[in-house]
Amino acid sequence: MHIKEIRINGFKSFADKITLELDKTFTGIVGPNGSGKSNIVDAIKWVLGEQSVKTLRGSASMTDVIFSGSKSRDVKNAASVSLLFDNTDKTLKIDYDEVLVKRILYKTGDNEYYLNGTRCRLKDITDLFIDSFNSKDGINIIAQGKVSELLNNKPTDNRIILEDAAGILKYKLRKEESLRKLSKTHENLSRINMIISELESQVKPLEEQSIKAKKYNEIKEKLTNVDIALMCYDISNINLNYEENKKKITNLKENLSITSTEVTKEESEVESLKLKLIKLEEKETKYRIELNKINSELQEATSKKELLIERNKYDKNSDEIKNNLIKLKEDELKLKNEIESLKRAIEIKKEEESSLTLDLKKLETDNNVLSTRIDVLRSEWQEKSKEELINKNRKEILENNISNNELLPFSVKTILNNNFKGVHDVVNSIIKYDSIYASVINVALGAGANNIIVDDEEIAKKCIKYLKENKKGRCTFLPITTIKPKSIDPSIYEKIKDIDGFIDVASHLVETKDVYKNIINNLLGNIIVCKDISAGVILSKEIYSRYKIVTMDGDVINIGGSLTGGSIKETTSIVSMQYELDKINTILNNLKNRKEEITKEEKELEFKQTSLKDAIYKSNLDLINLKEFIWNRSSLLDEDEKSYIKLKQEIEDLTNSSKERIDKNLNSTMDEYYKLVNDKNELDLNINNIEKNIKDIKDTINDKELIIKKSNAVNKNTVEEINALEISLAKSSMTLDNLLVRLNEEYSVTFESAKKEYILDIDEKDARILVNDLKRDLKIIGPVNLNSIEDFERINKRYEFLISQREDLNKSEMNILEVIKNMDDIVIDKFATTFNKVNKEFNKVFKVLFGGGEASLKLTDPTNILETGIEIIAFPPGKKPASITLLSGGEKTLTAISLLFAIMNLKELPFVVLDEVESALDEANVDRFGSYLSNYKGKTQLLIITHKKKTMEYVDLLYGITMEESGVSKLVSVKLEEVK
Ligand code: ATP
Repeated sequence: MHIKEIRINGFKSFADKITLELDKTFTGIVGPNGSGKSNIVDAIKWVLGEQSVKTLRGSASMTDVIFSGSKSRDVKNAASVSLLFDNTDKTLKIDYDEVLVKRILYKTGDNEYYLNGTRCRLKDITDLFIDSFNSKDGINIIAQGKVSELLNNKPTDNRIILEDAAGILKYKLRKEESLRKLSKTHENLSRINMIISELESQVKPLEEQSIKAKKYNEIKEKLTNVDIALMCYDISNINLNYEENKKKITNLKENLSITSTEVTKEESEVESLKLKLIKLEEKETKYRIELNKINSELQEATSKKELLIERNKYDKNSDEIKNNLIKLKEDELKLKNEIESLKRAIEIKKEEESSLTLDLKKLETDNNVLSTRIDVLRSEWQEKSKEELINKNRKEILENNISNNELLPFSVKTILNNNFKGVHDVVNSIIKYDSIYASVINVALGAGANNIIVDDEEIAKKCIKYLKENKKGRCTFLPITTIKPKSIDPSIYEKIKDIDGFIDVASHLVETKDVYKNIINNLLGNIIVCKDISAGVILSKEIYSRYKIVTMDGDVINIGGSLTGGSIKETTSIVSMQYELDKINTILNNLKNRKEEITKEEKELEFKQTSLKDAIYKSNLDLINLKEFIWNRSSLLDEDEKSYIKLKQEIEDLTNSSKERIDKNLNSTMDEYYKLVNDKNELDLNINNIEKNIKDIKDTINDKELIIKKSNAVNKNTVEEINALEISLAKSSMTLDNLLVRLNEEYSVTFESAKKEYILDIDEKDARILVNDLKRDLKIIGPVNLNSIEDFERINKRYEFLISQREDLNKSEMNILEVIKNMDDIVIDKFATTFNKVNKEFNKVFKVLFGGGEASLKLTDPTNILETGIEIIAFPPGKKPASITLLSGGEKTLTAISLLFAIMNLKELPFVVLDEVESALDEANVDRFGSYLSNYKGKTQLLIITHKKKTMEYVDLLYGITMEESGVSKLVSVKLEEVK
């Protein structure tokens, strides 16, 4: 490898582009002071990536290297330098024969690097040289003044020359990188440790809080399930009770209204009777006044009659006949009055009799109506009792069947009765469905209805082992953890869901707990339910007979299209039995209620009938008395009428014989007297009748008031009963409201949805105890931070992530340390080897260049090869200076050159730049220097900047740098012959 061209443009004093063409041999560069020779060396350093402004002899910024203008030339905007390498020997590890490295710097400070025309990073260029030469550039540049500096350097600075020669720069750079990584890893570790310790202080309490919160959630979920189910249970019961009470109130109010109407009717009758009574009493008073008047008139008429009779005793015409006649007339009148009053009395009594007969008839009709109703009620009661007995018997059978699992196969019953842990129940017992689907579900489940649900396969295996060992038969087990759900393809479901007669997928028609959903979907998830066989056939065609279809009648269209049907046995599953039991309980309840209603109505009717019968009995008694009275009076009347006819004849006979002898005055007095007697009798009779009437009415009023009193007492009880029921109704309503509000506010669910979702599967009393226990548990737990679950998971995840990161960092720290150690070992080895070699070679070259003497290198700290400095010891021939600093300038330079050549001898350098290294040497030494250089011909490409003519003799190509135009360096070629 060698440099073919150096192209410089706008760099330092090279305002214009120059191209320095080199070949593999020695090239010299000459020119006056300040013409720009060293700027070429700077350009080489710069293009290979030099970053130090100081090394490039700049002042402040890298842009100082851009041509800064002169009197006649403007500043340049950019500086660019390119090195064109010949790489045919592939020294540079890149697959090109020519390699062009280029760097451009703009005024803005932007740097650009190019490798064979492609933009790249500086690292790409340095890596290329490091990989190829184990040193930064493989190019040894000995800048102006550096040679003399070498011997004045501190031992630690000298070490760098050896390091470079040993080719350990690569390892040093990598070590530096590893150390940087190590410190970065340290930084990360301490940062992570800080975060970890901060998180540790949060994780523990958060973990405790989250455990507490999880426990809380667990209890709360349990509580929610039981509490809601219990509330639903209470709501249903209270509602049922509420409806029953409402019905009772309606019935009681109806009865109350009937009896109240009757009371009102009775009261109005009492009122009209009381009015009648007042009128009768007024009439009685009037009759009594009249009677008083008649009595006084009669007294007067009696005295007058007595007087006239007395006077007639002394009358000369009076005789026996006359007396008889008077007596007969008196008798006649008396009899006539008696007949009249008898007739009137009979007439009144007959009127009473006919009205009483009418009343009695009405009472008897009412009684008959009541009796018929009572008979109807009694026979209904008998019927209901019979029905009740039948239902009670059935209930007993059903309850016995359910509690003893009577209908289950023996093997299934054996497993269930053994209470194995992990055994749940048979499929039929864990589902609920509307009774209308009983046949469908039974057919759809088939034998699966009695399959036993278990926790997992292990439990199933245990149960099967038990059945085998005890010879108890066979069962099918459904492990919850294994059974997978089946379903209808959603696209098929969409296709058939609106077809006439489609009802639903069988699994949609049953309710079960979430834990059993997979099992139910496995058994029923791919069975379609439809109305009838016609609809089933249509559906089966639509789905290409891919799924089983069951009709509401229990007919089946199997997968593939075969049909199974006919009559089905009456449903005898536990669920259907439970449904029947529920139905029977409702029937029994209704029967009980109806019987109670019948008994109540019967009692009321019997009570009414008793008072009706009393009234009939009394009316009959009154009628008999009336009839007897009429009969007695009629026979008296008959006798009186006969006597009257006889008397009348006697009077007529007597009157005819003594007519003129009868005193006219007496006659009229007698007529008047008897008329008054007659009137008096009539009044007495009337008064008697009125008194009798008054007594009867008073009795009736008393009877009616008694009935009203009794009815009012009954009504009062009914009102009290209604009030009590209404209070209970209000309480129920309030409890219902409270429960519904609680459901809504505490659990945000409606009763309808809660009823479907939450089913009370334990005894109600146990559930209440459980709710209290769970509430107490929640209280004991106290306030919880529910966010802690999420917070803990988040922070703990981060914590664990950081812990694993810390582990990774610790591992990578160990790795880096190991890498550093390995590199140190390599460096120690390479450094020590190179040191020994260079030491020997140095002495050798020294002797050649000085023509004798001794020189060596000494480690300042042999125990620490990695950091030891290097002291240069040189004894020119015949001299033994105490210190190297005491050597002359020329001796120092030649010693340094000896060291440089020693290194060059050991390490083949492809390209070396020597910038006025020999300036301090005298002619003879320059000659030695020059002739030693000849050793490198053909091995190393050399660029020598020099003022020494002697040196120029040793180069093959010579360039001159001038600065004709003030401030701008120019390249001129110099003929060697002119120099030599
Ligand atoms: P000597 O023989 O004395 O060592 P030289 O030929 O090596 O001299 P250099 O040191 O290469 O000279 O060049 C120095 C010259 O370069 C100075 O005149 C300096 O002003 C010029 N120079 C340095 N940087 C710039 C720049 N950025 N723009 C223009 N000229 C510059």
